Amino acid sequence: MKREIFKCKKCGHCCHGAATVSLTDEEVADIRDFLGVSIDELFSFYLIKNGKRTEMKVVDGHCIFFNREGLCSIHPVKPHHCRVWPIHPSILNDENAWLAIKADCKGFLRDATFEEAKELVKRQNSTSPYSN
Ligand code: SF4
Ligand code: SF4
Repeated sequence: MKREIFKCKKCGHCCHGAATVSLTDEEVADIRDFLGVSIDELFSFYLIKNGKRTEMKVVDGHCIFFNREGLCSIHPVKPHHCRVWPIHPSILNDENAWLAIKADCKGFLRDATFEEAKELVKRQNSTSPYSN
C-alpha cells in the first residue's frame, strides 16, 4: 500500500521570500474580480511588474496576500503555482529539484524518496483541474 508522503503543515513558509510566483493574465483578472477592484487599483496596491513578469507584492518578507491568520486571503483564486505547490512537475525530471523542494517544505516525510515524489506528482496531475 502506498503511504502518504505529504501533508501540508500550514506553516506559511512557501508564502515567504524575496519574490512571489509569476501570474498569467487570467490569474490577474481572477484576483481583480475576487477583490472587486479596478486593474489600476490592483497594480497600485497588490501587484508589481518585474520585467515581463507580473508578481504579487512582497510585504514584510511575505506575499501581500498572506494574512495575519497565516492563511491565503485570495485562496479561491490563488495562482496555479500556489495551488499545486509543493507537488511540482519539476520533480518529475530532476532529483535535485525534488531534494530542494523537500528541504524547503516540512510537509514532506523526511525519508520520502524521489520515486514516491514522482508518483505523487503524476497522481496530482491526473486529478488537477489545470492538467489539460
Ligand atoms: S512550506 Fe510546505 S508545509 Fe508549509 S505551508 Fe507551504 S506547502 Fe505547507
Ligand atoms: S497567493 Fe496565497 S498561497 Fe500564493 S504566495 Fe500569496 S498568500 Fe501564499
